[in-house]
Amino acid sequence: MKILQYVADLLFPRLCPVCGSELNAGERYVCARCMAELPRTGFHSMEFNPMEQLFAGKVPVERATGYFFYERGSRHASILHSIKYHNLPQLGEWMAGSLRVKLPHRVSSILLMS
Ligand SMILES: [Zn+2]
Repeated sequence: MKILQYVADLLFPRLCPVCGSELNAGERYVCARCMAELPRTGFHSMEFNPMEQLFAGKVPVERATGYFFYERGSRHASILHSIKYHNLPQLGEWMAGSLRVKLPHRVSSILLMS
């Protein structure tokens, strides 16, 4: 399987949607550097965080969080653009998975919104 991935990467290099650099074998969708620089909200560790305040009284949710701050035109905005406009829902699933491991409580479902 690794040989097939290696050959596929040679023929069709996978690129980071944030910086455009070629992903190495250990990187899935976003390069390690761009993930490290992701402007994370940290909302998941805050009680009644701004995302929960946004939904309060409008939508029945137990908890809500935002993974990173979105700013139109920013480097990391391209992550959401790739999910939404470049038909990469698997990038959204991968991002949700990387958020899920940071959550203090078991989560049964994650809804991505943009
Ligand atoms: Zn990158």
